Amino acid sequence: MKQSVLFTKTRKTAPKDEVAKNAQLLIRAGYVHKEMAGVYSYLPLGRRVLENIEKIVREEMNAVGGQELRMATLHPSQNWIQTGAWDAVDVVFKIKSRTEKEYTIGQSAEEIITPIAKEYIASYKDLPIALYQIGQKYRDELRAKSGIMRGREFSMKDMYSFHDSQEDFDRFYSQVKDAYLRVYERCGLAAKATEASGGSFTKKLSYEFMVLTDAGEDDILYCDSCSFCANVEVSTQKEGDTCTRCTKGTMKRAKASEVGNIFDLGQKYAKDFSLTYKDREGNEQYPIMGCFGIGISRLMGVIVEALADEKGIVWPKSVSPFHAHLVSLASGNSQVIAEADRLYQELREHGFEVLYDDRDVRAGEKFADAELIGIPTRLVISEKTIAAGGIEVSSRSGGDTTLVPESTIFEHLKKI
Ligand code: ATP
Ligand code: MG
Repeated sequence: MKQSVLFTKTRKTAPKDEVAKNAQLLIRAGYVHKEMAGVYSYLPLGRRVLENIEKIVREEMNAVGGQELRMATLHPSQNWIQTGAWDAVDVVFKIKSRTEKEYTIGQSAEEIITPIAKEYIASYKDLPIALYQIGQKYRDELRAKSGIMRGREFSMKDMYSFHDSQEDFDRFYSQVKDAYLRVYERCGLAAKATEASGGSFTKKLSYEFMVLTDAGEDDILYCDSCSFCANVEVSTQKEGDTCTRCTKGTMKRAKASEVGNIFDLGQKYAKDFSLTYKDREGNEQYPIMGCFGIGISRLMGVIVEALADEKGIVWPKSVSPFHAHLVSLASGNSQVIAEADRLYQELREHGFEVLYDDRDVRAGEKFADAELIGIPTRLVISEKTIAAGGIEVSSRSGGDTTLVPESTIFEHLKKI
C-alpha cells in the first residue's frame, strides 16, 4: 500500500476526552475512529491488526477441534428471560421495536448456542463438540474510559463446548487453557492464568488470563517465582505473603487486564433449554457446558499499552498491519524514487506486505509517522543508501540499524 493513497493520515492530537493511551495512539496513527465513549470504528490499518489477531485465535481454536460458526447478534428477549439473564445481568442492552417486541443485542451467546445445539445433539455419540465465533458483542458498560480495552461494542471470540462427563470437560478445559497461553504468546504478550471462583451466578470454575499493564482494570497477585496468580478480589493471600503454591516466591501486586477467560458452566444452560442427550444406557442426560472467551479488540489495546514507547505504537510482527514500512527519502531525486518504486514492487512479488511511504514530505515527518504507526521493520532508501549499495534496515523496537546489500534483502527480511 502506498502511503500517499492510504485513506488515513496521522494526526498530532487525539480527542480531548480520550484518556487511555491505547486509544490516543490508535486514533493519532489512524487505526481507529471514536464514535462515542466505548464505541470505535476500525479503519483500514486497524482492521488489518484485528484480522491478524483473529487469524492467530482461529488457528489455535481450530487446533483444539473448535468449529467456527457465526451466530445472530440480534436476540429475542425470550431466550434471555428463560435463563434469568434478562433481569440478572446488568450489561444487557434492551431494545423495544415499534411493534413493542423486545430484543437484545448479544453480550454473549449462551442463549443462542444452546437452542442451536439442541437441534443437533441427541446422543453421547454427538459429544464432545466445541463451537466458536468471532464477532461483535454489546454491553451496557458503565465505565468506558479504557479506550478499546473496554467497549460498549467490542470484538470477542466466544467458544462453547458440550461434554458427556466432567472428566471430558476437564480434559478439554486444560487443552483450551494451553491454547489460550499460546494465543497470547503469539501476540507478543506474557499472560498469566489466574484461578478465580467464577463471577456470575452460573459459573463454577474459571481461569482468567491476565496481562500485566498499568492500564488494566483488575488487581492481581502473582508469585515472583512460579506461575501462580490470583485476582485480588477473590484471593485469601496478600502482597508480600509467601506463595502458597511453590512456598518459595513472594506474592506481588500489580494492575492487569483480563484478555480472556474460560468457565465451567455446568448444566445450567442445558437445563434452561431442556438440552439433553441419550447416554450409553439410553438414559436422558444434560451435557456439561464450557464457555471460553477472548477479547479480540481488548487484546489489540493491551498490545499497544504493553509495547508502545514514547514515540508511538510498537507492533509485534505477528499482528502488525504490514511486514515492513518502506520509507523513501527522495526529495525529488528521480533515481531514489525509481529505486524505491522498484524495491516496493519486488517486495510485493516476494510476498511481503509493505506500507510504502512514497509521499513528498520531509524525512523528519516520515520517521515520526513510521514511529507512531509502529510497523516492526523499517526499510530506508536514500541517496546515501544507494551510494553505499544497500538498504537501511532497522527495528521499531530498537537495536542496530544495518545496511543490507540489495542482493540479500529478501533473504534478510525472511530471516527476521
Ligand atoms: P471484565 O471483567 O473485564 O468486564 P468479563 O468478565 O465481563 O470481563 P467475559 O464476559 O468473560 O468478560 O468476556 C470474555 C472476554 O471479553 C474478557 O476476558 C475480555 O477480554 C473481553 N471483554 C469483556 N468485556 C469487554 C469490553 N467491555 N470491552 C472489550 N473487551 C471486553
Ligand atoms: Mg464485564
